[in-house]
Amino acid sequence: MLIDLNRALKSDGKAVKAEASVEIREVVSAGERFPVVQTAPVSLEIVNIGNKKLQITGDTCVTVRIPCSRCLEDVDVPIALSFEKEADMAMSESDRIQALDEQIYIVGYNLDVDKLVYSELLVNWPSKVLCREDCKGICSICGTNLNQNTCGCREERLDPRMAKFQEVFNKFKEV
Ligand SMILES: [Zn+2]
Ligand SMILES: [Zn+2]
Repeated sequence: MLIDLNRALKSDGKAVKAEASVEIREVVSAGERFPVVQTAPVSLEIVNIGNKKLQITGDTCVTVRIPCSRCLEDVDVPIALSFEKEADMAMSESDRIQALDEQIYIVGYNLDVDKLVYSELLVNWPSKVLCREDCKGICSICGTNLNQNTCGCREERLDPRMAKFQEVFNKFKEV
């Protein structure tokens, strides 16, 4: 969705609030495609801070389907975004290109909300996704999902001295 920035540019100090829908269907990160399963409207505030500069703040939440880092089952991960940007509207599009300005979400006098949210998603991309805190992952030998089944590939027992240590450690954690 495009938001016209002219209204905020009319006078210094002017603040404009807007709600914008997000129309992102998928995210490509590190060469992989991840479907977007839910979006929420972005609440934007655009403030004219003088000298044709705009301060753009907003927040939203985008839910992306990402495989669990351990067992590869799909997980719907809500990614909360909160951003604050400054856009120099005195710069023309050709100035921007020359200055290698990465604000690709400013198109003429419009704010391209999807592009802005998309770039924020990449910046806030989770480094690790777990379907649950104690996901057991998949067996590296036979590929069984160890959350659903046991496979008997590894029958290692914990050394009893280590078990004692683990017990103490767990108690320590609880305090
Ligand atoms: Zn998992
Ligand atoms: Zn196995």
